[in-house]
Amino acid sequence: MNTMKNLTIIFILIIATSCNQKQPDISKILAQGTWVDLTWDFEESTVYWPTNVPFKHDTVFFGINDNGYFYSSFKYSAEEHGGTHFDAPLHFAQGGRSIEQINVDELTGAAIVVDVTAKSAQNPDYLVTIDDFILWEKANGQIPEQSIILLNTGFGKYWQDHLQYTGTLKSGVEGVEELHFPGLDPEAANWLVSERKIKAVGIDTPSIDFGQSKDFRTHRCLCSNNITAYENIANLEKLPAKGAYIVAAPMKIKGGSGSPLRLLAWVPTLAE
Ligand SMILES: [Zn+2]
Repeated sequence: MNTMKNLTIIFILIIATSCNQKQPDISKILAQGTWVDLTWDFEESTVYWPTNVPFKHDTVFFGINDNGYFYSSFKYSAEEHGGTHFDAPLHFAQGGRSIEQINVDELTGAAIVVDVTAKSAQNPDYLVTIDDFILWEKANGQIPEQSIILLNTGFGKYWQDHLQYTGTLKSGVEGVEELHFPGLDPEAANWLVSERKIKAVGIDTPSIDFGQSKDFRTHRCLCSNNITAYENIANLEKLPAKGAYIVAAPMKIKGGSGSPLRLLAWVPTLAE
């Protein structure tokens, strides 16, 4: 019996050692690519929805304190859905999951980038259609299940120019009426969920529903299907059509429908 036990232990040790030898060197793999920051700065001028209060960052203390050494500390306040941010299903689905309930697996994964910059330059109300995804698939193969779908409308380059980025400089309800920026067609959202079993959707505009949307059908479709979203993404033009790996790290607000998001992409050097 003892011999059997010893043999088992040796066997386990051999397996463990051989597994160890096969373990990939993660730093070597990551050295074959670069990290891209897909996040805009949070500051007073950061784009928020016209009915939202802008981002606030106030000084609590800055300078040499009574004990003779430097110290600084600030306080901030923000609505959930402004700047580069994350939408949890709770945003448009009653009983949907809130931020802290999203699994880490859902916050990371392989991305595909669909380029609709030319169409969006012609039409600020452009809706990304099923045909845009079919066109992407013709060049790159079928969208793999559990992909993170990123929509490059080209509007990221207008970030500093609020009028061009959102269509308005007005705040409140008046501002909402004048919003013009591209979004994802609700029919295409439904197709992505049912036909391609995607993980998340992101866009370089203030909302995955286009600016003139009144019923937010894309949000409602994605949220009711448990899909998360990223909005106001930066630097999307630095990503390849496929091959990037996303790390989405939203602030873990318990019960939150959304939150500021630090969004990163790892891009392999040899990606097409
Ligand atoms: Zn949002």
